[in-house]
Amino acid sequence: MKTVNVNIVTPDGPVYESAVEMVSTKAQSGELGILAGHIPMVAPLEIGAVRLKKEGRTDLVAVTGGFLEVRPEQVTILAQAAEPATEIDIDRAKEARQRAESLLQAKQDNVDFKRAELALRRAMNRIDVYENRM
Ligand code: ATP
Repeated sequence: MKTVNVNIVTPDGPVYESAVEMVSTKAQSGELGILAGHIPMVAPLEIGAVRLKKEGRTDLVAVTGGFLEVRPEQVTILAQAAEPATEIDIDRAKEARQRAESLLQAKQDNVDFKRAELALRRAMNRIDVYENRM
């Protein structure tokens, strides 16, 4: 099967590079599945999982927003943060979820709800990716 080369890059450096058969992820416009030969495209990404299918297995990477750039033989994801499932600190993610949930439940005027909600989504995404790792 033809493959497409994928790079996932963050401000701290590259976190994933591989030739894969299919990349699936969630763009703001909906779920995307990209194969080699895809037409060029740029799309903003949601907080979500990137699934990379190759040689009968699927690698998972948790991605915190950013952009997807597609060319026929190359997919580049530029993200604020990204962690392969194997590098997720699950205790840290659960603590972050707990903190965010407490803030969201607090009936206080000084809580930045939008910020707490985003922290909760990041934490839940990491937990989800960790739990679905192969
Ligand atoms: P926390 O509150 O635990 O710091 P956060 O969602 O605020 O979580 P980010 O600002 O998204 O964290 O990320 C900061 C850096 O920490 C990034 O480099 C990210 O890859 C890394 N990171 C965050 N949470 C985890 C985790 N659970 N496991 C591994 N790396 C993580």
